Amino acid sequence: MKISHIEHLGIAVNSIEEALPYYENVLGLKCYNIEVVEDQKVRTAFLKVGETKIELLEPTSPESTIAKFIENKGQGIHHLAFCVEDGVANALAEVEAAGLRLIDKAPRGGAEGLHIAFLHPKSTQGVLTELCED
Ligand code: ZN
Repeated sequence: MKISHIEHLGIAVNSIEEALPYYENVLGLKCYNIEVVEDQKVRTAFLKVGETKIELLEPTSPESTIAKFIENKGQGIHHLAFCVEDGVANALAEVEAAGLRLIDKAPRGGAEGLHIAFLHPKSTQGVLTELCED
């Protein structure tokens, strides 16, 4: 596969409202979009850092995987998302052929209308990895 850049870093937070003043007032970044992703039970806030984004993830339900992540590990970096040039479906086929464990067998819709798929951290050296395309 061909990765063009890091699309975003996903960061689990208890509250977007509590986290944003740090990113906006201290780091000087600007939140340009807040969106609920129903099927992932999260609210997301996006900030741009050059070509890369920071995606703040706030759980909207105690059953959210983000709620469980924060419960186990606390707030912090949750996943790394790469932008693939030849499409998520092709990249997934490649990764599966290489014997890696997938969380998503097929691309699905994520925040910002991106097609995304997650790879299992057991197969990616401990980092929950997301593939996406523009
Ligand atoms: Zn993400």
